[in-house]
Amino acid sequence: MAEFDRDRDAVMVRAREARVKLIVNAGRHLASSRESVLLAERYPEIYAAVGFHPHDAAAMKETDLAHLENLTHSPKVVALGEMGLDFFRNRSPREVQMAVFEKQLHLASQCRLPVIVHSRQAHQETLDILTRWRSDWGDVSQAPGVMHCFSGDAPQATTYLELGFYLSFAGSITYGERLNAEAIELVPRERLLVETDSPFLTPQPYRNRRNEPSHVRQVIEKIAEIRGLPPEQVGLETAANTARLFRLPSPEDTPQ
Ligand SMILES: [Zn+2]
Repeated sequence: MAEFDRDRDAVMVRAREARVKLIVNAGRHLASSRESVLLAERYPEIYAAVGFHPHDAAAMKETDLAHLENLTHSPKVVALGEMGLDFFRNRSPREVQMAVFEKQLHLASQCRLPVIVHSRQAHQETLDILTRWRSDWGDVSQAPGVMHCFSGDAPQATTYLELGFYLSFAGSITYGERLNAEAIELVPRERLLVETDSPFLTPQPYRNRRNEPSHVRQVIEKIAEIRGLPPEQVGLETAANTARLFRLPSPEDTPQ
């Protein structure tokens, strides 16, 4: 995103210093998906996802799905996303969001790529769409994707886990008012992911500043505190989970 145009290299230096070994950078519309692919070509530890965020669903043209499909042939594209439903902001009409979500899920089935799902105040609709799609996807040995920036409650977490999804947590878990510790506790260790959602959702103690990948450390520390584990272990396990879901080289093999 443009927030990093001034100092992207310095941000990546800080990420390496914080021992961030794998980054999946999501798209939110066609232009940003193309930029995501270019970014992944520039930095070895960055991989790309391509997709239309629900906010931008109304901007998706008929031909854009074919453009997205083309981008998936790039060797560093490992997922489709963000995609999903946002009934909190409603920046695109709900019916359009749902149609664009379903089209991208269908594309994911064709390309056999996992999806990165954004769902805000749309749990039931998201669940209905994913449940229908999951039966088309068929192959239960392959995880369908991740619920990103998950902020739902324990019963919601359980429904997505039953569909085979990973759950990913971001800096918002360090804001007392948005913490759902019960949901974080129930995720099996091999289904847990961490993210920053940079430049948004900056964790404490940096809240209200621009977020960046090195701050994933605060998310890991918060999860470690809730689950009663050493942060080192949560870091290693979530890195291994990231590699497994997106079929990336193992983080230990990544040159630094
Ligand atoms: Zn999102």
